[in-house]
Amino acid sequence: MIIDPGAQGRSILSNVRELGLDIIYIVLTHGHIDHIGALKEVKEGTGAEVAIHAGDARFLRRLSFSTIYNRSFPPGVDRLLNDGDSLDVGDLHFVVLHTPGHSPGGICLLGHGVLFSGDTLFRGGIGRADFPSANHSQLMDSIYTKLMVLPDDTIVYPGHGYDTTIGIERRTNPFIRG
Ligand SMILES: [Zn+2]
Ligand SMILES: [Zn+2]
Repeated sequence: MIIDPGAQGRSILSNVRELGLDIIYIVLTHGHIDHIGALKEVKEGTGAEVAIHAGDARFLRRLSFSTIYNRSFPPGVDRLLNDGDSLDVGDLHFVVLHTPGHSPGGICLLGHGVLFSGDTLFRGGIGRADFPSANHSQLMDSIYTKLMVLPDDTIVYPGHGYDTTIGIERRTNPFIRG
């Protein structure tokens, strides 16, 4: 599974080849350009299914993508994700947490004590909510009801920046009251 191929498609694909991986899913935590910039290349190079929450699928169809980045349209969506969906890859089992706020169809992936938090939660920060389709109170609600209920030792890999844990963020994140 590849999560958010935002850039450097060639390097992603060469890693896949070196590791001898068979990629089943390309999962998008949301549809912002910095998370899908290499989607077309990685999709073509792996043949994997593209999975995104319905609330963000429209980002993949937006005209601005091809206009601004001078590329053809990204490939379509193969699987629409919903809250609670399972993603099984090899021995690994992940559950989709719908965490809207930074974007309507934002998701996090949880499995094996690890959370891929997209742009919902960062080390010492939270996702921006000043976009037209963002909603700050919804973002905070997602963080409190879906993420802060997880065990302290859950390892968090955010869409940007360093990894952290739920416990560290619960105690030290200035945007979150413990
Ligand atoms: Zn984003
Ligand atoms: Zn981002």
